Amino acid sequence: MTTMRKSSFLLTALTILMSISTAISSHSPLQNFLTCFSHNSHASKVIYTPNNTSFLTILNKKMYNKKFQTPTTPKPLAIIAAKDASHVQATIKCAKSNNIQIRIRSGGHDYEGYSYVSDVSFVIIDMFNINSVDINLQEETAWVDSGATLGAGGHFSGGGYGNMMRKYGLSVDNIIDAIIVDANSNILDRKSMGEDLFWAIRGGGGASFGVILSWKLKLVQVPSQLTVFNVKRSKKVVQLNFIGQFLGTTERLLSLIKESFPELNLKNSDCFSMPWINTTLFWYDKPFGTPLEEVLVEGPPSIYFKSKSDYVKNPIPKVVIESLWKKMIEGETMYMDWNPYGGRMKEILPSQTPFPHRAGNLFKIQYFNRWIDGSPESIGRHVNFSRLIQKFMTPYVSSSPREAFLNYRDADIGANIPSNITKFDIARTYGRSYFKANFERLVSVKTKVDPDDFFRYEQSIPTKTY
Ligand SMILES: Cc1cc2nc3c(=O)[nH]c(=O)nc-3n(C[C@H](O)[C@H](O)[C@H](O)COP(=O)(O)OP(=O)(O)OC[C@H]3O[C@@H](n4cnc5c(N)ncnc54)[C@H](O)[C@@H]3O)c2cc1C
Repeated sequence: MTTMRKSSFLLTALTILMSISTAISSHSPLQNFLTCFSHNSHASKVIYTPNNTSFLTILNKKMYNKKFQTPTTPKPLAIIAAKDASHVQATIKCAKSNNIQIRIRSGGHDYEGYSYVSDVSFVIIDMFNINSVDINLQEETAWVDSGATLGAGGHFSGGGYGNMMRKYGLSVDNIIDAIIVDANSNILDRKSMGEDLFWAIRGGGGASFGVILSWKLKLVQVPSQLTVFNVKRSKKVVQLNFIGQFLGTTERLLSLIKESFPELNLKNSDCFSMPWINTTLFWYDKPFGTPLEEVLVEGPPSIYFKSKSDYVKNPIPKVVIESLWKKMIEGETMYMDWNPYGGRMKEILPSQTPFPHRAGNLFKIQYFNRWIDGSPESIGRHVNFSRLIQKFMTPYVSSSPREAFLNYRDADIGANIPSNITKFDIARTYGRSYFKANFERLVSVKTKVDPDDFFRYEQSIPTKTY
């Protein structure tokens, strides 16, 4: 399977049909990049520069955070909408030789826009055309390309979780192979990349190490019917939703909840049985009866938002929760997700993958602030409010380091550090929050596989040489 996929990535041969606009200066880094690209790749209509009429459409196509959709947000020099591995290889080679940085985008969900915004000169490798999913039922595995609907590139490489996390762990706990293009434009699979790099890309954030084309997943078993519920409880102006999914029957669920969480007072009428595929629509809050084809529709429309995360190790006193509600009401636009850990998550060693938040965590908090008014004043106010709420929670969440979830990227971590601190120290600050003790191993892998730090971005893993 691996060999077949590698050769299919390599074999695509399309005609060169690149129109290079005369508006681009003949010796600019971009012009040199484009010339190099045309010499190194069989490219057909995969490059978009600001001179193309569809440039902005392609740029905004996968941009979940509207904060970065303004006319003044820095734009890439070009977008390479890769159709096969040769386009990725050529981009790496030509960006490197012309001293241009790259940003890699799959689903464009990065909370801080790190896959498509930067203050430096950069080109985007956009993966949305590399999006197939091949399922092998006999083997119970699937190859999923990075650009598949969910935007698997960032989701998996950041340690993505799903609704069966307490039963089966994270996505990265179920990845058994991957295909990556490294800093020398080599195409590698698990065997040829070696176990260190394979470890690093399963939670360490792919963009520090290479461009991941595809992932091989071990599929997990689900019963033919699952049970879900969404119980709403209101407290004055605060609404609490207890949302659950159980891999079993309603009867069994009710007896378990009665035993371990009787306060919820879960009733038969709160519970709904459905096949696993339908639960994906339930989690998206789609009404019952929504056709399954809806799962193929692109994700939710982009919004203005700021998100932060925390890990909770000890129960939060009731009185603090009351104060928290009051504070949230002041901001008007914030909600929180409390995502329970335990189960399979606590059985997996924190060093098994770069994602370190395993045993000892009761739950993860996501503070999610979203709003409609896109004026700078409004953005500033809402971002500040998110910071205030997180500050309020300081005594009740993890510390030294204050842990954070990489997939809920937060540019505040490591920001506002005194100017005499080195780049490496800044990286250590966000690195420890996201990876705890695994940060040092990530730095070692990075130094080995990308010593020139070609794959860098605003919160990447540094090499040891800073
Ligand atoms: C509506 C919504 C729901 C979400 N729900 C969940 C959830 O249930 N569980 C969860 O874990 N997370 C969730 N997230 C967070 C999400 O997993 C992260 O934002 C993740 O990084 C998104 O990956 P992406 O490919 O869509 O993003 P992108 O913005 O494309 O990429 C994110 C990061 O990964 C890098 N990257 C992307 N593709 C590649 C590649 N092919 N090779 C190397 N590096 C790459 C980018 O450069 C960037 O640094 C959600 C986000 C949103 C917006």
